Amino acid sequence: MVTQRSAGQQIVEERAAEPWEEIPKRSPQIQAVDNDYLLRTVIESLNDGVIVTDLDNRVLHANSRLAKLVGCSAAEMIGQPAYDFLSLIEGWLFFCSPPNETQSGSCEWREGQLRRRDGRQFWAEVNSTPLQDSEGHPIATLITVTDITERKWLEEYLRLLESVVVNANEMVMISQVEEEEDPLKLRIVYINEAFLKVAGYRAADVIGRSAELLIGPMTDLEELDRIRTTLNNHESAKAELIFHRQDKSFFWADMNTVPIRNEHGQVTHFVSVMREVTERKRVEEQLRRNAFHDPLTGLPNRLLFTERLTQVISRNKGNPDHLFAVLFLDLDRFKVINDSLGHLVGDQLLIAIARRLETCVKRTDLVARLGGDEFTILLDNIQDEASTHQVAERIHQELSRPFGLNGHEIFTTVSIGIALSSTDFEYTEDLLRGADIAMYRAKALGKACHEVFDTEMHNQAMLQMQLENDLRRAIEREEFVVYYQPIVSLTTGRLAGFEALVRWMHPERGMISPGDFIPIAEETGLILPMGHLILREACRQLSEWQKLYPQHRRLSMSVNLSSRQFSQRGTIEFIRDVLRETGVSPACLKLEITETAIMENTESAMDTLLQLKSMGVQLSVDDFGTGYSSLGYLYRFPMDVLKIDRSFISRVDTDGEKLELVRTIITLAWNLGMDVIAEGVETTKQLAQLKMLKCEYGQGYLFSKPMSAADTDVFLTQANPLEHIVLPGNPEPLALESA
Ligand code: C2E
Ligand code: MG
Ligand code: MG
Repeated sequence: MVTQRSAGQQIVEERAAEPWEEIPKRSPQIQAVDNDYLLRTVIESLNDGVIVTDLDNRVLHANSRLAKLVGCSAAEMIGQPAYDFLSLIEGWLFFCSPPNETQSGSCEWREGQLRRRDGRQFWAEVNSTPLQDSEGHPIATLITVTDITERKWLEEYLRLLESVVVNANEMVMISQVEEEEDPLKLRIVYINEAFLKVAGYRAADVIGRSAELLIGPMTDLEELDRIRTTLNNHESAKAELIFHRQDKSFFWADMNTVPIRNEHGQVTHFVSVMREVTERKRVEEQLRRNAFHDPLTGLPNRLLFTERLTQVISRNKGNPDHLFAVLFLDLDRFKVINDSLGHLVGDQLLIAIARRLETCVKRTDLVARLGGDEFTILLDNIQDEASTHQVAERIHQELSRPFGLNGHEIFTTVSIGIALSSTDFEYTEDLLRGADIAMYRAKALGKACHEVFDTEMHNQAMLQMQLENDLRRAIEREEFVVYYQPIVSLTTGRLAGFEALVRWMHPERGMISPGDFIPIAEETGLILPMGHLILREACRQLSEWQKLYPQHRRLSMSVNLSSRQFSQRGTIEFIRDVLRETGVSPACLKLEITETAIMENTESAMDTLLQLKSMGVQLSVDDFGTGYSSLGYLYRFPMDVLKIDRSFISRVDTDGEKLELVRTIITLAWNLGMDVIAEGVETTKQLAQLKMLKCEYGQGYLFSKPMSAADTDVFLTQANPLEHIVLPGNPEPLALESA
């Protein structure tokens, strides 16, 4: 006899009046169970709802979990039809159909949505098990109800997610983490339609294999290594990569791979989502090509060249054995070709040159067009300086063959500057600038040749830059002065006029000759204001001397006109203004223009020359014989005077051939109705030869060096400053009077 009652016993006793109590009358065994409070406790503590119904489907027992699920108390349910509380939204019969003999002992289960008393619904898994007495007669039905709402929701959620993945335009691939250490070798467990479509595989070809199958010769292996390391650290990896299709063609994909962890934080899978970006990459590539290539020749442009050069410089830092070089090429007189034959032919020539240059270098070298007629070449991995000379020679030779373009046979040469990596350049620009400086040196040395940069050139270039800066200030500070050099009539021995020659009185460096700054002034455009200054001052001075010295009232003044001035609009008006201002007669002004200046401006030259001519100004061809090799222009242009360059005169007394050449030039000039001035007459022997050739005028140190205005003034007041000049075999000194 149990004296102390447990909580379970108490429950059983309190519920003695319930229909449940009827059962023992029919089956003693049941009563034995029923009396077992442990059993009730177990049922009560179950996570599932439990209900027992009699053969009429009336509720005999319901645990509190069930009561909670259906939304009413257990007491309310007892004796009531079970389907009052547990009605399935779709069909209800299964669990309350009376268990008959044939079904005895078999279980039924079903999933469905149940409606609670308050009308709310939930998903449940319902199991119904017939209970039998010891003789196998059905006595009741045990029904368990499990709330599966959350599972159902998850299933639904997964189903939706799956449809997103299956139908996505993005490619999705899932691989499973196993013992394999290389994340790229993991087994693929899922791949979506989009992926199969883009990669051209069937699912069966891919599932179970590793992602390596998509990697091919075009795939960036360095990038793959980076991804491998990132994934091994269980971090997300993003990349744009080339993958290979089954047919070995390739596509670009933007890939994002993320590790998936289980509830213990262990990485179990990697999910890769990729988007094909081949088209975008193609456009990018096109844009990149445009940005890095010269549209005319298709060669790499300055941007690409400097980028490659920067790479090579940084790669070779601290590796002095590795030699490389930059070649800077500039076509000689390309402008003449462009101006005379037109831009179309000019363009064709540049293209043809680009193709020939490519044949002169190795495939690993880089030929680029910087712009205009400038090309650069990067020679990587050269043996020594001699190999750069070989390449330069090859280029000279290759370009020496004529180009047949548009019915013209065109000859061109190129000046090449070479900068070697061994010269210790730190920056890309330094190397390029070095090669550029050397190229200028090659040009100055007579074109069609090559020069290697050295530090001396650098120092000179620095000086040049300094000079350029100083030059800008020189105009404001009025540091330019005009010197005058007499031009003498060789027939009469009288003074014919002066050539105005500019000098720069540099505050630190003293007097600088025009040869050292005129080219810079030309390049920078400073020649224009400077030229104006000189012309105005020379005319003012001439007018003063003409008035001051009546015997010199017909004195002429030769003023040099640079190419830039010559082509500048407004020059004609300016000259007209100066003549009017100073009162100088146009016939006393001689403008000296070099052959090159005329040939560089062929289109406008004729017009300008005719206008000057119509003003009454005299026109001289300066430095004749040093520039353009064709004489045709002499016939075309209305020139009055031809000045034979000093280089011919200097050897006229020693070189028979030169003498003959000068004779021919003088005859040619006469035939064209031009006067001739011999430049650079230094010796009486030269003078005698020139007189013999009947050359009309001479200019040179023999008569006088260029003089300051003050010295010229003294010169003009002297009775005969050329007294000292005595011709061999002629005791008469030269006389000085205006011709
Ligand atoms: P250029 O017009 O041919 O001037 C003649 C040059 O030869 C002058 O050099 C003169 O000093 C020099 N010269 C004259 N006789 C002799 C001689 O017997 N022996 C030697 N060795 N040289 C002689 P400079 O003054 O140095 O001028 C050089 C060049 O600079 C000029 O050559 C001219 O092209 C340019 N230049 C000078 N002044 C001006 C200017 O005002 N404007 C422009 N645009 N150019 C100028
Ligand atoms: Mg001159
Ligand atoms: Mg000259």
